[in-house]
Amino acid sequence: MRIVLFGPPGSGKGTQASLLKDKYKAAHISTGDTLREAVANQTEVGLRAKGYMEKGELVPDEVVIAIAKDKLASVGESGFILDGFPRTIAQAEALDVALAEIGRPLDSVVNLRVDDEELVKRLSGRRVCPSCGEPYHVDTKVPKVEDKCDKCGGDLIHRADDQAEAIRNRLKVYNNQTAPVLGYYDGKGILKNIDAVGQIAEIQNRIAEALGL
Ligand code: AMP
Repeated sequence: MRIVLFGPPGSGKGTQASLLKDKYKAAHISTGDTLREAVANQTEVGLRAKGYMEKGELVPDEVVIAIAKDKLASVGESGFILDGFPRTIAQAEALDVALAEIGRPLDSVVNLRVDDEELVKRLSGRRVCPSCGEPYHVDTKVPKVEDKCDKCGGDLIHRADDQAEAIRNRLKVYNNQTAPVLGYYDGKGILKNIDAVGQIAEIQNRIAEALGL
C-alpha cells in the first residue's frame, strides 16, 4: 500500500490513516504530527513552523518536503500512508520525484470529501492527546474520564489551530492552495473520491473498496 490520504482539515485523514496502518501494516506519515512534535521539542524546524501552524497557514514547502523525504527514507520497503502531505502542487511534484528515485510510485490518492459546515463542527469540537496523538470529539468521541486520554492517560488539549478563526483560515488555505492538487492526481488517473460523512467504520469500508482491498 502506497497511498496519500487527501482532504480538508477535519475530513478524518488521521483517524482513517491510523486504522489503515494497523490493518495493512503500513507506515503512517503525518507531516502535521511531525511538525507538532518539532514545535513541542523546540527544534529549529519547530521554531520556524510554530507561527504558521497557529494561524492555520501552510509551513513553507522546503521545510515539509524535507520532513516527508526523511520519513519516507526511514520506512524502507514497507508500505506507507501519507496524511496531510502533499498540500501544494510543488509538494506533489517533489513527492513524485522522490518516489521515482526509489522506484516506488503512489498506488492511489484517496480524497475524503466533507462539506465545510460539517468540517467546522468537527474541528471546533476536536480534542487531541498531545502525548500519543489519539483524537477525541466533545460530541462523538468522548473520553471515559473527562479531558484524559483513554489510551495513555495524557491531558487532552484543544489545538490552537482548532479555534474558530484558525479553522476559517485553514479552510481558506485548503481551498486556495491544496484543492488544486486534486486536479494534478486526477490527471494521473490515480484519484479516488470518497464520501467521508458517516460512521468511521463505514468510511473505512468505502476506502478499502475504492482501493480494491
Ligand atoms: P494537520 O495536522 O495535517 O492538519 O497539520 C497541522 C498544520 O501543520 C497545518 O495547518 C500546517 O500549518 C502544517 N502542515 C502540515 N502538513 C503540511 C504540509 N504538507 N504543508 C504545509 N504545512 C503543513
